[in-house]
Formats: sequence, structure tokens, C-alpha cells
Amino acid sequence: MKYYYLIFCLVLSCSTTNTSKDNFGIVIHGGAGTISKNNMTEEMEKNYKNALEEAVLIGYEILKTGGTSQDAVEQTIIYLEDSPLFNAGKGAVLNFDGDVELDASFMEGKYLNAGAISGSKKIKNPISTAIKVMNSSPHVMLSGNGADKFAMDMNMELVDQDYFKTKRRTKSLERIKDAEEKLISNIHNPDYKAEKFGTVGCVALDKFGNLASGTSTGGMTNKKWNRIGDAPIIGAGTYANNKSCAVSSTGWGEYFIRGVVAYDIAALMEYKNFSVSKASKTVIDKIGSMGGDGGVIAIDSKGNVAMEMNTSGMYRAHVDSNGKIDIKIYK
Ligand code: ASP
Repeated sequence: MKYYYLIFCLVLSCSTTNTSKDNFGIVIHGGAGTISKNNMTEEMEKNYKNALEEAVLIGYEILKTGGTSQDAVEQTIIYLEDSPLFNAGKGAVLNFDGDVELDASFMEGKYLNAGAISGSKKIKNPISTAIKVMNSSPHVMLSGNGADKFAMDMNMELVDQDYFKTKRRTKSLERIKDAEEKLISNIHNPDYKAEKFGTVGCVALDKFGNLASGTSTGGMTNKKWNRIGDAPIIGAGTYANNKSCAVSSTGWGEYFIRGVVAYDIAALMEYKNFSVSKASKTVIDKIGSMGGDGGVIAIDSKGNVAMEMNTSGMYRAHVDSNGKIDIKIYK
């Protein structure tokens, strides 16, 4: 009898202390827009796919070995920020004055904690500072010089503007300024939009059932007046709630702010019981009907994912708990 009682206690303690689940997964994006085979060389396509694969596997390894969704999102986005290919961190687009201004946000789904920064000119890895705002300040969002000062106070790595600037983005700014001066550009023109936008994002579910989301961007080429897009705005560019899903947006930020995109997807799931894919499609269709475009990545608390867009492409990758990897660029 004593023996059976001991076995019973052992089973009970295992089932109450080990809350780890087999279900986990990670999805990333590197921006949505007019991405077609016509404006992509084979070499560029290979470079983008390699970068997406390396990035998503960083987060996957963290999750697989029992790490948190917060760590997976942070480390994956750091890789994307450090890569000059994407519009975030190094290689970010330039504003009207030829400077880089960076936005980023992070949210975790268990307690709904969040942190964000906007308009930073010095922070090497904005995603880490966004997380620091969440964990080490009484605030959710810091901007401009204040965000840079906070990062300095927290001993986070600061760099000169030259670190972020690439020839490709300098040329883009020249082309876009030229087009705007000659009034031949129209923001609805696909070629124009392809150069203007871009962002990176990551959503993850860890083995403990916790969701997290992060988004990081240089925003819009030739932006003026300290323009801020959706990426650092909780509810628009980034949202996470263990009751529903984690979402990261990319696209024409003004529309994503007005459509409260990331929260809208989570709300449709929580209040109307939509699946993650139905909720994502509904909200992207809504953005389309408002005249905007872009895409979202989302993962729910069971590991189901959505990668939805109304553009011709979105750099994206997904790895599920079996290690099955899916990397795509075109729609
Ligand atoms: N949503 C970003 C912004 O408007 C840009 C993008 O994702 O392409 O700043």
C-alpha cells in the first residue's frame, strides 16, 4: 500500500511541476511589399533565404532547448537587425535628413507586459532596449533622445549613425527624393513602395505555453517630422496574449495604426473564437479595403500559425516543434 502511495505521489508531482509542453514554434518576417521575381536576382533571393533560415533557427534552438519565447524573439531579431539586408538596425532606411531613426517593440503574452522605443538614432539593437524598457523602467514607450539616454544608462550598446548606413539605402533615398521632387512618384506606385518600407518581426510560443512578439524597423524612407509608424505601437505593430496569439505586423504603418491590426487579430480570436488564420485574413482584408497594404505573422497558443499578406511578397519563415522549416518570399 505504501509502495502504491509513493508511486501516486511521484506521478502527481511530475504532472504538477513539469508544465513543459511539446508544442512550440516560431515565425519571422523580414518585411512585406512589392517583392517579385522580376526585381530579384538569384543571388539576392539566396541571400535573403539564407538570412531567414539562420535567423529562425536561432530562435528555434532556444525554444527546443527549453528557453523562453522572450529570448527566442530577442535573439532572432538581433540577428535580423545586424543583417544589412533588412530595414532594421544595420541597413535601415534613411529619413529626409539622411539619418536612421529606429523603432521597436516587444510584448509577452502571460502578464501582457510590453516595452517600446521610437526614433532612436544610436541604439545598435532596438529590440533589446524595448525589452529593457519593459523589464527595467516604469514605462512602456520611450522616444528619441530619451530612448537613447535610457539605453546609455542601461549600458546597452550605442553606435554612430555610420554603423547603420549602407550604400543601398543612400541610393534609395536619392531615388525617392528625386521622384518626389519631380512629382512623378505616387505612394500607391508599387516600385516606389518597394523601396520605402520594410521591417523585421518575430513571434514565438515556448514549451511553457507563453507567447511573445517583437517588431523592429527603420520605418519609411524619406520620412520627416519624427514620423512614427506602427512597429513600436503596442496593438498595431506588436501584440501578444496567451489567451489568443502573438502578432507582428509589417507594411504601410499609417494604415496599421488606424486598423489597430495586431490587437484586432487577437481580439477576433479571444471574443469571436476565430482561428488564427481566419482572424489574420479578416484583418488584412480590412487593411486592404481601407487602401493600405502589408502583412502579418501570428502564432496561437497551440502553435498554429498564420503568414498573411495583401502584397506580392513577404520575407518569412516558420519552424514547428518537429523542426519542419518553411521559408518563403513570394505570396
Ligand atoms: N510598418 C513599418 C512602418 O510603417 C514599415 C514596414 O513594415 O514596412 O514604419
